[in-house]
Amino acid sequence: MQKKTKSIIRKRFGQNFLHDRNIIQKIIRSINPKINDHFLEIGPGQGALTYPLLEHLKKIDVIEIDKDLSSQLDKSIHSKDINIYCMDALSFDFKSVVKGNKKIRLIGNLPYNISTPLIFHMLNSNSLFEDLHIMVQKEVADRMTSDDNKKTYGRLSIAIQARCNVKKLFNISPNAFFPKPKVISSLIKITPKNNLDEDTLDSLDDILKTVFSKRRKKISNGLKDYFSKEEIKGMGIDCESRPENLTVKDYIKLSKKRCF
Ligand code: SAM
Repeated sequence: MQKKTKSIIRKRFGQNFLHDRNIIQKIIRSINPKINDHFLEIGPGQGALTYPLLEHLKKIDVIEIDKDLSSQLDKSIHSKDINIYCMDALSFDFKSVVKGNKKIRLIGNLPYNISTPLIFHMLNSNSLFEDLHIMVQKEVADRMTSDDNKKTYGRLSIAIQARCNVKKLFNISPNAFFPKPKVISSLIKITPKNNLDEDTLDSLDDILKTVFSKRRKKISNGLKDYFSKEEIKGMGIDCESRPENLTVKDYIKLSKKRCF
């Protein structure tokens, strides 16, 4: 059972704690934890998700930046059930917690200001994860899951969808948190695909940075330092189109060709 804890709420760490039991149970059901899963939670806070997860697991690893919250968890959960890393998840080495061949299942109700860099820090170690359930600001979830030709489609959509399958599971109202955030949250499920080598991913990031810095220009113009018009046409891409008209598959094709 969850013990009631009192702590100072630290805005700089994006602390909005989940307190709605129905929502917490809905999240746990979506994650579907199994007894032998290796779970790593980022930002357990007061344990709103940690305690219910532990009802299904033998042990959990957590990373919490706030020393007071870490020490509260340390006092209230038996050390055989939890490994607490009191540090910044942005500099965490995910490889250090891998046990044998077992992949990590990651969960995090992430602070909004660091959610995107943190997701990319995790995706740099893509192959270590079975899946990632993450709560982010709804607008970020919409961008991550966007199809091409939409206002929400951009660099983030392509960079993440090239590496993973991303699914938005449901929205969470500000009322589910204390203190109430100003924005709606969404729970997303990310499943790594591990389909692209490092050179292709570097090339993809490079191409995306270039073409989306000239978002209004035709793709043949944005890509002129990399490919001739003939090469672009040869890949089945319309030279007249704009960056947001190309599919994720088109960008993968371009990145592979550039590495060749
Ligand atoms: N999981 C809890 C819940 O749902 O109630 C807390 C969520 S709160 C939005 C975010 C948590 O992440 C806080 O406990 C905060 O201290 C922690 N945190 C913020 N930045 C962090 C970072 N860089 N590394 C690790 N934890 C961080």
